[in-house]
Amino acid sequence: MSTQPILLGGVEAGGTKFICGVAAADGVIVDQIRIPTTSPDETLDAVAAFFVNAQSRHGRLSALAIVSFGPLSLKPDAPDFGAITSTPKPGWSDVNLLAHLRRFIDVPMTLDTDVNGAAVGERLFGSGQGLESFCYVTVGTGVGVGVMIDGAPHGGANHPEAGHIRLPRAKGDERYSGTCPFHGDCLEGLASGPALQARWGAAAETFSHDHPAWPMAAEYIAGLCTNLTYTLRPERIIIGGGVMQPHMYDLVRQALVRQLGGYDASLRDLDTKTYIAEPTAGVSAGLIGALALAYRSVTGEWPKDWATQGQDQIGLEMVDATGIEPVTPSV
Ligand code: ZN
Repeated sequence: MSTQPILLGGVEAGGTKFICGVAAADGVIVDQIRIPTTSPDETLDAVAAFFVNAQSRHGRLSALAIVSFGPLSLKPDAPDFGAITSTPKPGWSDVNLLAHLRRFIDVPMTLDTDVNGAAVGERLFGSGQGLESFCYVTVGTGVGVGVMIDGAPHGGANHPEAGHIRLPRAKGDERYSGTCPFHGDCLEGLASGPALQARWGAAAETFSHDHPAWPMAAEYIAGLCTNLTYTLRPERIIIGGGVMQPHMYDLVRQALVRQLGGYDASLRDLDTKTYIAEPTAGVSAGLIGALALAYRSVTGEWPKDWATQGQDQIGLEMVDATGIEPVTPSV
């Protein structure tokens, strides 16, 4: 066994920014940066440079975990393992995150979805505390679903893609063709932020609370919750993202009760106030989730004592990518 102290690297890779952090074994972040998402080469070179430079300051990383927008290739024996596969984000399809970073950094790396990362973060610090099986849903630019089963992110042949399920059309929305480039009127094509904007001709954040877009979106999001409830029976469904404005939660809860239709005695008494929950781990949930995944890859366990520290200590001031010293590939 190495006697070197555990040092963890984490990346939350998003469509507009990559948040990178380095933490000690107790979860205290010692270095952190925010890098704007531009071209894959420019962005990933800056991510690599941050960690190379961080290693020169703090020592060698024990492991690096990346949680990313997707879809991702997560099966280790797949030829494209580590890649973003067919994303609508221009320039980012078939970009292999792990292969790119391995040209600069020789440490064990793991990859998971952004929603699984957020789910891990919510379990440590937020609305998933004390739960073994729950779902984390985000409804924003897209619709993503992370699934925790028995305390670990679920993935079989690859990660779930429940944002693209098909649902019955909401009343009055029978003719809208939807915005998903792959399916048209899947859930993401009907209820994501871009779908609402295309459907109603204005950005969703400009809609008043009595705009008909909200109950319609709530009907679709409740449809997802109905399907997750029947297929997985999670202890809770945590829903975040830009479309989930505060007034949406009760709309989703009411639509869910209606859709469940009184079926199954164990669901009739469902307390939807706690079953459908807001995320509470804060904006760093994805990064914390990545760091926790790195911790688990080193120790085989989830961190146990991080939650006692609270999120104040993990929110170091962000700095932008300007000023990162570039590095050259080592392999
Ligand atoms: Zn779709």
